[in-house]
Amino acid sequence: MIHFVGAGSGGADLITVRGARLLGEADCVIYAGSLVNPDVLQYAREGCALHDSAGMTLEEVMAVMAENEKAGKTTVRLHTGDPSLYGAIREQMDRLDELGFAYDVTPGVSSFCGAAAALHAEYTLPEVSQSVIITRMAGRTPVTEGEQLRKMASHGCTMVLFLSTGLLEEVERELLAGGAYTSDTPAAIVYKATWPDERVFRCTVGTLAKTARDNHITKTALITIGGFLGTEYERSKLYDPTFSHGCREARE
Ligand code: SAH
Repeated sequence: MIHFVGAGSGGADLITVRGARLLGEADCVIYAGSLVNPDVLQYAREGCALHDSAGMTLEEVMAVMAENEKAGKTTVRLHTGDPSLYGAIREQMDRLDELGFAYDVTPGVSSFCGAAAALHAEYTLPEVSQSVIITRMAGRTPVTEGEQLRKMASHGCTMVLFLSTGLLEEVERELLAGGAYTSDTPAAIVYKATWPDERVFRCTVGTLAKTARDNHITKTALITIGGFLGTEYERSKLYDPTFSHGCREARE
């Protein structure tokens, strides 16, 4: 059996209870060493075989899994954050399907959730934004025409950019070209959200590149953009005393 497990965004105690249990039962753990906090491996049992996938190809990862399957061993494939986002999990699952090996997936706390926690922020504020666009700047991995950052930026909603910290001059240009944000629109760079050395830099769309440069942030960071980082919003209907809903009658 192969278990894909989301390790969470950094803090070792942010892995789910299920993820930690599966780690404790595994004969072998293949972990994404470039981003998974090594402290998470404390949940693996002694004698468990450890493989850092950072230096491995898909084929090599599959070979380790296949060998374990043939020996009747349990493998945990440990991905950073939640495996469904930029996790390269689909290509592994498709090969396991072809080989007829059973697997399941345990979600994890994605870094975009860790970043909101670090910012003490809520991405979806009434009258500010009710949508979150999770995307990236096109880099060596291209994005489709319809997902060009300037098009995404035309909505003016909350935006979280993964994998884009090295391209911030271009990010700024694209965000402004979308027409909905201005250079004064609030933004923040969250470095290593939920890790012990987490850092938060609040800035604006126009100062993203400079802020990263001044603080030597080049990777392991998320860029968040939008009015949710500002001060204006409306209170929720859900907890408004004058509003009735399925669980509560209006009081005034
Ligand atoms: N599956 C992961 C994302 C993997 S892609 C998740 O759900 O979080 C790797 C990118 O995620 C990094 O380049 C960075 O942009 C972002 N990232 C991952 N962990 C992070 C963290 N703790 N803090 C800030 N950004 C992080």
